[in-house]
Amino acid sequence: MKEDSINALLNPKSIAIVGASATPGKIGYSVIKNLLESKFSGSIYPVNPKDDVILGLQNFKSVSEIPGPVEAAVIVVPAKYVPGVIDDCGKKGVKGLIIITSGFSEVGDIALEDQIVKQARSYGMRILGPNIVGTLTNSTKLNASFAPYLPLPGKASLITQSGALLIAIDAISYTRGVGFEKLISIGNMSDVDFADLITWLDGDPFTSCISLYIEGFKDGRRFIEACKKTNKPVIALKAGVSTHGAAAAASHTGSLAGSSKVYDAAFQQAGTLRATDLNNLFDRTLALSLQPTMKGENMLVLTNGGGVGVLATDAAEKYGVPLKFAPEDVQAELKKHMPDYGSAKNPVDMTGMAGNDWYYKTVKFSYAHSWVDGLVVLYCETAQTNPEEIAKSIHKAISESGVKEKPVTISFVGGERSDKAMRWLVENGIPTYNAPDLAVNAMAALREFHNLREIVNHKAYKSSSNGGVVARKIIAKARKDGRGALTEIESKQVFAAYDLPIAATQLSTSEDEAVALAKKVNFPVVMKIVSPQILHKSDAGGVKVNIKDEAGVRDAFKTIMVNTKNYKAEAEIHGIAVQEMAPWGTETIIGSVNDATFGPTVMFGLGGIFVEVLKDVTFRVAPISESQAAQMLDEIRGAPILNGARGEAPRDKKALADVLCKYAAMIYELQDEIAETDANPVLVYEDGKGVKVVDARIILKSK
Ligand code: ADP
Ligand code: MG
Repeated sequence: MKEDSINALLNPKSIAIVGASATPGKIGYSVIKNLLESKFSGSIYPVNPKDDVILGLQNFKSVSEIPGPVEAAVIVVPAKYVPGVIDDCGKKGVKGLIIITSGFSEVGDIALEDQIVKQARSYGMRILGPNIVGTLTNSTKLNASFAPYLPLPGKASLITQSGALLIAIDAISYTRGVGFEKLISIGNMSDVDFADLITWLDGDPFTSCISLYIEGFKDGRRFIEACKKTNKPVIALKAGVSTHGAAAAASHTGSLAGSSKVYDAAFQQAGTLRATDLNNLFDRTLALSLQPTMKGENMLVLTNGGGVGVLATDAAEKYGVPLKFAPEDVQAELKKHMPDYGSAKNPVDMTGMAGNDWYYKTVKFSYAHSWVDGLVVLYCETAQTNPEEIAKSIHKAISESGVKEKPVTISFVGGERSDKAMRWLVENGIPTYNAPDLAVNAMAALREFHNLREIVNHKAYKSSSNGGVVARKIIAKARKDGRGALTEIESKQVFAAYDLPIAATQLSTSEDEAVALAKKVNFPVVMKIVSPQILHKSDAGGVKVNIKDEAGVRDAFKTIMVNTKNYKAEAEIHGIAVQEMAPWGTETIIGSVNDATFGPTVMFGLGGIFVEVLKDVTFRVAPISESQAAQMLDEIRGAPILNGARGEAPRDKKALADVLCKYAAMIYELQDEIAETDANPVLVYEDGKGVKVVDARIILKSK
């Protein structure tokens, strides 16, 4: 593979347009017109079998006829002709193919798409697309697309899976004042995917922030790895988070849309910021492309209006950057530039009396003060002040402070004059918004990105035991018996091999044996049916808990046998498990799935009714680090229960996090064998007393 083929796709010095047309309205015409109008300085070669000249440029009958080198080819011919064009390009030594043509996997023709990728790779070429609008770059004035013009210049680069959205974003960039270096349409991602582009953009000196519109990935792990390695902020807007939306996204792009909770986990693990909607994507892109991250937790809000101050305070709490009062000495200094009835706490309310001078002095002092990690400046349009002058005062204060690595965001609330002032501030590098909560949300994003990066490269837990050897023997035996699932006993043996704390369990095949085992583990005991056909044992009347003596064991043995016969007469019975009765603890559930997009993924939640009714669960792509395990425990809604709600002692979160790490390592190691697992319930005891897995289930992959 030619190493510079991505470079050739995004920054070619020479470009052929195959399927060029002299007829206005055709895509093959628009692309050439756009290349000319954007003032692309490289060579442009129209290619079609009939014309001599198109838009004043010499036309070639084939790519191989072009005299000079051709780095990239934009292909717009109908799908059936694409393979022929690829051969022509390959022979010419083209490096990158921008395939605008549609009619591939998005309409079900997966075979044709696979074929063109194979073909291109055989020549060492990479494909962007097919089914795209094209790619646009401001720094090289390259509009290799059918979007009508280059976006407003800026430092963000955006990759979108929706072509229509690219054209809209191109237009919005001007009205919204958010500038872009690149807009890239990624289409069907037959070859070049998000990971390739993110990696390339990480090294692009013109890009300071990477924004994504995503419908779905093919290989989720590649995305996570690429984002982890990137130092630039990545902001993702994921469409299809509702069940209905997921179906629409899947049919739209032909890619697999995984469960939205798994995507949440993956973005978190990738260190990727989220955008909640299109506006939020613009707002966050503006902040992340222009400002450094917020490295500490102290955000100071300056305002001339109490109302916007309160709105900012609410937003600060909502977005995870709650306000704290500034220290006394800071307050004393701030008091100097406000009337007596102003407030120097936080928000700092200079009151409606604040003019250019107070804004200038207060901003200059606060922005430079070491206590302040991030500054949010609010302004409400007043009759006595001129928004443009206020904007200039704020900007002057910021630039004169000499401070560099500290973020500032601004909100102006007002009419036309404020709009103009905001635009000026944005053009001068300060993200400015028309509502206080938006300025706070932008600052929160700068803080969140800093926090995400702190833990993103923590090492995942790796099992050191030889659990795999033991586990694979057990699995092989089950497969030999023609089974697709392990029994509880076998599953617990696998768990134990990975050092998970299971309630000791042994198999009995007769009443007498059960009695002997019960005496060995000590009363009280639990007895459960062991049958490959009965996976939900309670449903079959196959579980008896709190058995206190020998008579109880004999009684339970008989009852379980009768119950399960009645439930499923044909079920094959291995025997009855006798196990230690674990003391009561908080019921939680740990489980796993083999996600189509992200592979082995671990789940955690509160057990019992919480999991079934509230679906209060969270996921991580396995394996996971200790900090990720700790995050999982904290991010479920029921988290306070683990922290010791209603006067109960806090639960042993450390032990639970440790179990989560080991569990994730287990499903990761055994991903070629295991489809799904659950440990339900996992009982969690008070701090220092550990965790017990009392039920275990492993479903094998079908082979
Ligand atoms: P299943 O989920 O197949 O119905 P379980 O093994 O989870 O069966 O048992 C049902 C319930 O019995 C559990 O949710 C738990 O409350 C209780 N239980 C099972 N095993 C034990 C044990 N070893 N110690 C204490 N309680 C247990
Ligand atoms: Mg269970």
